Amino acid sequence: MSLDTDVQVPQRRELRTSIPGPRSQTLAERRAAAVAAGVGSTMPVYAARAGGGVIEDVDGNLLIDLGAGIAVTTVGASHPKVVEAVQRQVAEFTHTCFMITPYEGYVAVAEKLAELTPGDHAKKSALFNSGAEAVENAIKIARHATGRTAVVAFDHAYHGRTNLTMALTAKAMPYKKGFGPFASDIYRVPMSYPFRDPSGMTGEQAAQRAITLADKAVGADQIAAVIIEPIQGEGGFIVPAPGFLAAVAAWCRDNGIVFIADEVQAGFARTGAWFACDHEDVVPDLVTTAKGIAGGMPLAAVTGRAELMDAVHAGGLGGTYGGNPVACAAALGAIEAMEADGMLQRAEQIGAVIRSTLEAAQQSQPAIGDIRGRGAMMALELVQPGTQEPDAALAAAVAKKCHEQGVVVLTCGTFGNVIRLLPPLTISDELLAEGLQILTEALTSA
Ligand SMILES: *Cc1c(COP(=O)(O)O)cnc(C)c1O
Repeated sequence: MSLDTDVQVPQRRELRTSIPGPRSQTLAERRAAAVAAGVGSTMPVYAARAGGGVIEDVDGNLLIDLGAGIAVTTVGASHPKVVEAVQRQVAEFTHTCFMITPYEGYVAVAEKLAELTPGDHAKKSALFNSGAEAVENAIKIARHATGRTAVVAFDHAYHGRTNLTMALTAKAMPYKKGFGPFASDIYRVPMSYPFRDPSGMTGEQAAQRAITLADKAVGADQIAAVIIEPIQGEGGFIVPAPGFLAAVAAWCRDNGIVFIADEVQAGFARTGAWFACDHEDVVPDLVTTAKGIAGGMPLAAVTGRAELMDAVHAGGLGGTYGGNPVACAAALGAIEAMEADGMLQRAEQIGAVIRSTLEAAQQSQPAIGDIRGRGAMMALELVQPGTQEPDAALAAAVAKKCHEQGVVVLTCGTFGNVIRLLPPLTISDELLAEGLQILTEALTSA
């Protein structure tokens, strides 16, 4: 099956130059002189157009996109419904500031978030520009509502690059090194990581390990919030053992702690459900969303229990651009596309194809230690054969070979040894199969 994408970019892989081509190299020189070195890029090619499952670079190379701009272009990078909604809105008005003269699009996005996020309780939302900003505001809301200050986060967590979210993020290099001091009153407890936990450890046992540490080291009655990615993103696409999330959420409920699900990467159809929490029937108190929400436009949200969201005084939440009307129009277009085009199912199909292809490759590739993920959020963890020793060099070599062949793949993981696959849900079966074939060939040759 393929979705009817109706995009302008030819849907095939084609290399006209070596990667990077001459135009990309010229841009790289200009960039080196003008763009801060602290902003990195996975690939040295410069984009000209993108849509469906393809990125076209400035040299006319057509690349298979298995990264979706880090799980952002879930509906593709130029879905007609998004393009149309943006064009219509941008001609009407680009900005008034919701905090000055509000507009309908913001309200409509909040209504949609109330409808789609887990649980049927009364919900409200506040809109922001980036995932990190949503996370910061979720913590603000939880602290304000509970009158407590401590926040518990997990090993391998990624929540952003701003000051508070750096403190929540687990990995020092590249996210935190040299950027301290960090926000205080943040505590880290072990994640459920089935591939690396003692074998046979259940989700409930892993939850108890985390809960005991939080309770003994911090004290349940001091904790405002527990924040967790229901499937971890940058930390390695770690899917916790079944029952883990529910047990942590139950403990939070029993202790008056706000349970925040950071669905910035896993949310919005990516995993074959609207939200990753849905797979386990876990209902968070607050949900943070961004990335896939608006078809590539910058938008983020905190959605949660009305009584929590309403605890904050007027003016305590907001921002000049938060819930920008063009971004809201894009979100409504993207959500409509997800609904109309059956994208939840499509994510599941993509996941099944990736899983079966990688499992077949694993037969002859002992370096594939683990294959995991849900829907169109899949990863393989590479190790020294027969051990759990991370092989980051292999992951980097495989990614490099894919890039040279015109396939965009991303790496991740605390140990840098995970290759993650996050294709746009508008990729065709043929392109997906070709991308996976190049990936498995790269594994063989690397
Ligand atoms: C990407 C990400 C963030 C940060 O989002 P930005 O838009 O980059 O600020 C936060 N949480 C998770 C789980 C993410 O994947």
